[in-house]
Amino acid sequence: MDRVSATSLESFAKHAIEAFGADAETAEIVASSLVTADLVGHTSHGCVRLPYYAEQVEGGAVDPTAAPVVESAGEFDQLAGNSAFGQLTGHRAVELLVDGAREHGIGVAGIRDSGHLGRIGEWAERVVEEGFLFVSWVNLQGGSHRIAPPGTAARRLGTNPVTFGVPTFGALPFPLVFDAATSQVAHGKIIERDGSDERLPDAWTITESGDPVERAADFEDGAGALLPLGGRESGYKGFGLAVVAELFAAIVGDGPVATQERQGWAGNGGAFIALDPSSFTSPEDIRTRVESLAAHLRSAEPIGDEPVLLPGEPEHRTAVERRADGIPVEANVGAELRALATHYDLVSELPPSLG
Ligand code: NAD
Repeated sequence: MDRVSATSLESFAKHAIEAFGADAETAEIVASSLVTADLVGHTSHGCVRLPYYAEQVEGGAVDPTAAPVVESAGEFDQLAGNSAFGQLTGHRAVELLVDGAREHGIGVAGIRDSGHLGRIGEWAERVVEEGFLFVSWVNLQGGSHRIAPPGTAARRLGTNPVTFGVPTFGALPFPLVFDAATSQVAHGKIIERDGSDERLPDAWTITESGDPVERAADFEDGAGALLPLGGRESGYKGFGLAVVAELFAAIVGDGPVATQERQGWAGNGGAFIALDPSSFTSPEDIRTRVESLAAHLRSAEPIGDEPVLLPGEPEHRTAVERRADGIPVEANVGAELRALATHYDLVSELPPSLG
């Protein structure tokens, strides 16, 4: 498998997004988000998305020159995506949240009609860096149905991620962020296997016969559905989280729920909240609590080779390794990026090992 440096991949992504019609500043924001996702191990939300973003721009769902619009401001803000790249909406939401938490102890940003917000953990990390707690519920604006209600194989809900972030004030060398799809895996993990022969793990999907979908291409053609988080045994838990995420995002963002899909639209809605913990306790006490909890959890003896990790730690470890050794690019993803580069006359901008 080819490995590419984050710098060369980001430079290519930036050129590609400029070629879609964005200015340099927008291209830098979007490229940086995608490559950060690749760096922390969520390649499903990284540069594999570039061809999909190109399609969205060409199809008119995303306007590369647009910016999100703040529709109401104050303690509680509402943001409309305005057909802009979702990463711009994510950035603007973080600014509003941080301002709200600083001024009022709480910042709330409802989001509707956003382009793809990508890896929601990025927005949590940015809020946590400022010393605030973060929680969000995100939906797919009524579209992109993938999750089956428990006991069925019918696609009814998006993979609605739920995300939490806790500032640790130096207790840990990484942001303590829990960021998960409410399906067994994010749909992106199937998208990135489309075009490869690798069999999908059986625990991810279900068909009407009760059997899993074996190939990503079949899932992409409409076979089966993603199981909610918890799978065949306890999927009602993930399903419950997906239902409340659908509604929190729609209510606070004032956007649609499943069945109210915008025509041709597959973006994100969201309810983002930042809280100032100093309203309740001190940074020193938070640091002590996190240190104590982390030591307690890590004292558990692993049964196998895997150490006890805290939420956000796998991403941190992967980023350390990939900064040193490069980001692995699967053959099918490399082929898609080469095709994109050819289409936009950017072959000379490809990272050397992909050119
Ligand atoms: P995942 O299953 O890889 O990780 C989920 C969480 O579990 C992470 O916080 C991670 O730090 C933690 N974790 C993983 N392994 C761990 C371990 N061994 N010990 C302790 N903690 C561990 O993530 P996912 O559910 O596949 O989601 C991937 C990404 O997809 C997320 O960034 C999510 O925001 C994104 N997503 C986005 C959308 C969207 O519409 N924008 C939709 C769905 C998912």
